[in-house]
Amino acid sequence: MACVSFPYDAPVSQTLFDRASLVTPGGVNSPVRAFRAVGGTPRFMVSGTGPYLTDADGREYVDLVCSWGPMILGHSHPEVIAAVQEAVARGTSFGTPGEGEVALVEEIVARVEPVEQVRLVSSGTEATMSAIRLARGFTGRAKIVKFAGCYHGHVDALLAAAGSGVATFGLPDTPGVTGAQAGDTIVVPYNDLEAVRAAFAAHPGEIACVITEASPGNMGVVPPLDGFNAGLQQICAADGALYISDEVMTGFRTSKAGWFGIDGVRPDLMTFGKVMGGGFPAAAFGGRADVMAHLAPAGPVYQAGTLSGNPVATAAGLAQLRLLDDAAYAKVDAVSAEIRGLVSEALAKEGVAHTVQVAGNMFSVFFTDRPVRDYDDAKRQDAFRFTPFFHSMLAQGVYLPPSAFESWFVSTAHDTRAVERIAAALPAAARAASEATA
Ligand code: PLP
Repeated sequence: MACVSFPYDAPVSQTLFDRASLVTPGGVNSPVRAFRAVGGTPRFMVSGTGPYLTDADGREYVDLVCSWGPMILGHSHPEVIAAVQEAVARGTSFGTPGEGEVALVEEIVARVEPVEQVRLVSSGTEATMSAIRLARGFTGRAKIVKFAGCYHGHVDALLAAAGSGVATFGLPDTPGVTGAQAGDTIVVPYNDLEAVRAAFAAHPGEIACVITEASPGNMGVVPPLDGFNAGLQQICAADGALYISDEVMTGFRTSKAGWFGIDGVRPDLMTFGKVMGGGFPAAAFGGRADVMAHLAPAGPVYQAGTLSGNPVATAAGLAQLRLLDDAAYAKVDAVSAEIRGLVSEALAKEGVAHTVQVAGNMFSVFFTDRPVRDYDDAKRQDAFRFTPFFHSMLAQGVYLPPSAFESWFVSTAHDTRAVERIAAALPAAARAASEATA
């Protein structure tokens, strides 16, 4: 990182960051926003329109983060904003059931065939935490299997990602997660069905569920190999464990029915977030009706939330989902293909080894010429090349995720002008990447 300079070109953001750092740990409310992986001043954004964000210094960026996935129609889509304004004018929270919740859940059930019943929550973390609790309550078993490099929110038991040996009990990856909380978590390498079989062989009848990102985006985009998700489903079914597909990131983004719409493998439970909230805190878990029936108040597994199914959030989510028809997905897929083609072309021109991996319209650029199939592969890339690449793009008005281990996201609003801005920025960024030294 020593070779990278950070031009002090965001004085208002810097002042805000200094203020924030006095009153908020690290100056941010979610760690990856802090630019720790790339250095420099996090940009404080003040507004978003279509494919653009404007920061507190008045600079405009083409946004390739899209709020980490949710903004699939771009920022401030007029119909979503209108739905929010209409809902907010009627009140912000009632603490009672409301029709908006029913309509949003009906939309989810209609789109994702294995989902028979849904419970709304406020974040993806809550969704996965609740799904795991339900799986444990339903099966009467304690252990869970997760994959190294898969992120399911900051649930204690799911932060165990290290020690990825077969059937290794996960060690807590963060202080504050006790051995007891992570001790029932078995972490195995991604895309490795043999490791999963070995975990089940070592703990027959003890595993409540396997949870996996439907197609991982949190170690960069690392799609499941052919047959991997189907294999998980079969292994779980044979042992009486539940197969939980975490579609918080892929759900309603990669297709109308998320990753399920692409691979067709039927999970017992699924989790959703991001796109279904239209930029508001709304998330969900759902699946087989006989499993969901174990949830309070229908059944004994407790789960609740003061703001679950919030009327403004559900209005935003429903408006967004209703706009996401086949034509919208075709548009996002096309612009994603165009942008990743441009990135690859620019990097190739500068002789930078890279691999662009794709899941629907999600993609990421790994600085390696080898395919990335798991977390260890992802970590073997030349991540030092990403830092100058990122800063060059940022300086030229293109906002990328500030980490080499994240998916890039696009929207229906990424039009020709936005793509041209990206294309114009890429040659210098690719050159910066090629000149980087470890
Ligand atoms: N699951 C996946 C696959 C995610 O990508 C995320 C967040 O990025 C989560 C769960 C957690 O969601 P949230 O940040 O809303 O708690």
